[in-house]
Amino acid sequence: MLNVKKLTRKYKNGSTYINAIDDINANFNVGDFVFILGESGSGKSTLLNVLCGLDTKIDGSVSIDGIDTSTFSKKDWAIYRNHYVGFVFQEYNLIEHLKVWENVALPLQFQGLSKKQAKKKAVIELEKIGLGKFIDKLPNHLSGGQKQRVAIARAFVTDPKIIMADEPTGALDTALGDKIIAYLKEKAKDKIVVIVTHDEDLAEKFANRIITLEDGKILNDSNQVSETITPEKELNLVRPRMKLSMLFKFARNNISSRIFRSIITSSIVSIGYISIFLLTFLILGINSSIASTISSFIPEDQYQIYHIGNEEITTDEMAQISALEHVESVEYVVTEQILLEYQGIPNNSILTSVPYDEVSLQSNTSTLYGEIPSSSDEIIINSLTAANLEGLQYIEKGSEEYVFNSVKNLTVSIKYIDSTGTKTLIGEYKIVGMVVNTSMQPLVYAEYQESLDISNMINNDENIYASQATMYLNTDNEDEISDLRKTLNDNHDIFVMNLYESITSNIDDFMMKALKIFIGIASISLIVSGILIGLVVYTSILERIKEIGILTAIGAKSSSIVGIYLIESAFLGLISSIIASGVALLLTKFINGLFNNFIEKPLNLLTQGLFEMQLLSPNVLVILIVITFSILYAMLAGVIPSLRASKMNAVKALRKE
Ligand code: ADP
Ligand code: MG
Repeated sequence: MLNVKKLTRKYKNGSTYINAIDDINANFNVGDFVFILGESGSGKSTLLNVLCGLDTKIDGSVSIDGIDTSTFSKKDWAIYRNHYVGFVFQEYNLIEHLKVWENVALPLQFQGLSKKQAKKKAVIELEKIGLGKFIDKLPNHLSGGQKQRVAIARAFVTDPKIIMADEPTGALDTALGDKIIAYLKEKAKDKIVVIVTHDEDLAEKFANRIITLEDGKILNDSNQVSETITPEKELNLVRPRMKLSMLFKFARNNISSRIFRSIITSSIVSIGYISIFLLTFLILGINSSIASTISSFIPEDQYQIYHIGNEEITTDEMAQISALEHVESVEYVVTEQILLEYQGIPNNSILTSVPYDEVSLQSNTSTLYGEIPSSSDEIIINSLTAANLEGLQYIEKGSEEYVFNSVKNLTVSIKYIDSTGTKTLIGEYKIVGMVVNTSMQPLVYAEYQESLDISNMINNDENIYASQATMYLNTDNEDEISDLRKTLNDNHDIFVMNLYESITSNIDDFMMKALKIFIGIASISLIVSGILIGLVVYTSILERIKEIGILTAIGAKSSSIVGIYLIESAFLGLISSIIASGVALLLTKFINGLFNNFIEKPLNLLTQGLFEMQLLSPNVLVILIVITFSILYAMLAGVIPSLRASKMNAVKALRKE
């Protein structure tokens, strides 16, 4: 039994309210075949929408089987609409992209029936109403009468207590209309049927009760029923639910029924992603080329060792470093201090020179006078040493050539001073050259690099000091390397650096910074595409307001509606990132081809194979990250329109034509 007490539905009209239905009292029993008659605007549809739970903003009370609906939550209303009520509308309100049987099966699937079970019941219902042959058709292949029969099958398929129909014959001719109503009457003996119409003849022909409305009030009720007390029960039915697979189906149908628009939108959105792909591939390409070029002249397992401060690495320390596990070999940069003594010059005049076979003109050296020594008893001296030999404090600008000419071909003896100050004669040399340096320091440290046989030197008790060493390892195990580093740091105040690592990490830093800037720029295009996706989803919603109304009417929760449109957004994100990946990969191939032909190959020939690079380096991880991002971002962009869709008023939505 359905009881209505003091039912009023107000609509705001400017600053005043109008009562679409006004203080209505009525009871409906099983077996009632009620027609509601009245002029247009008298409140018929409003009453029906309230009774079937589409419109819940009411004063007064409606109760079903003794259950008061005033305490209903949204969930309860969804249960009520799905289990208690079957709707038939004037406009049929079928979902155009679902087959006939799918339309009928929908309310059952909301109740949790499997697709198979739901289809079975739907087909039985359709066969009963004479549509057995049309189950696999889409609604727009059917005539109006057939569509209305599908709608009736959908209303009956859940075997609801109440059937409500708003102008069900309004779009049909009289004969067809009569047939439909006769079928309803025949089928609904154990139900409450409420039919809204303005067709008095139809009502007279079929009704066993007629309620006439005028200005929202009951003008006449032909067969009033008194309220029978029904014991209060709990609304204890399964909550209607749209399965994820169904949400996907709706989203997919939304996209594919507007495939052209979806592709255009996705293509525009993909432009931003294409630029992100190309920039990232470019940075990765350049980065890996630089890394491989560097590794071709700096081995990755080469470590440089320095002493912290001015001290040099001692022979002892050398021995310890060489003895470390994983160390394959060590080369030391040895600094030798050599004393140059000219006969006749007082002992305290210390001069130095460079062993000619290791001549390295230092950075502050500008000019060489004379020539490079050609035999082992010839040397070059520095300009200040030359000035001292001449008895001068310094060389005046412009007099270098004069000074060199006066010391040229002099023979000097060179002595080695060890750390205790003991001088050892190394040999006698003829001056053949002079380097001009800007240094005021007459001592020149000659640096030469040598692979020294440490064990031999230690055995011979030789006193050799090194400022720097290069260590070659035979391990690429990071742990072992860090152990080694720790040992060296702990024991020797020694600083260890991997040149390859420090150069490439600097480059990596730089590349990451560049990447961030590029992505920053690209994100401007992402903002635009987010807005675009939001608009497209919103448009899709506007075009499907009716569908949202239908889904709500048969019991869909608002979260399911949100779900459909979020998935639709996600699809757009997926399509755009897939388009972007495809185009980016094609462009990569094309650009790399051009680069190889016109730049890489010629340069490679010119440098005899030293120049070898791939300009753009595609990367699967980057593609996966962008696709994931694109999907999530599109969903984010779709959130606002989806929420709006879910808040759409079902009554208004169904009114829209
Ligand atoms: P009927 O179905 O009998 O033609 P309705 O129930 O549709 O009548 O409307 C009853 C009254 O309520 C009308 O005056 C109509 O203008 C008003 N009304 C209906 N829906 C709304 C609405 N959403 N906002 C404002 N007024 C409304
Ligand atoms: Mg109406």
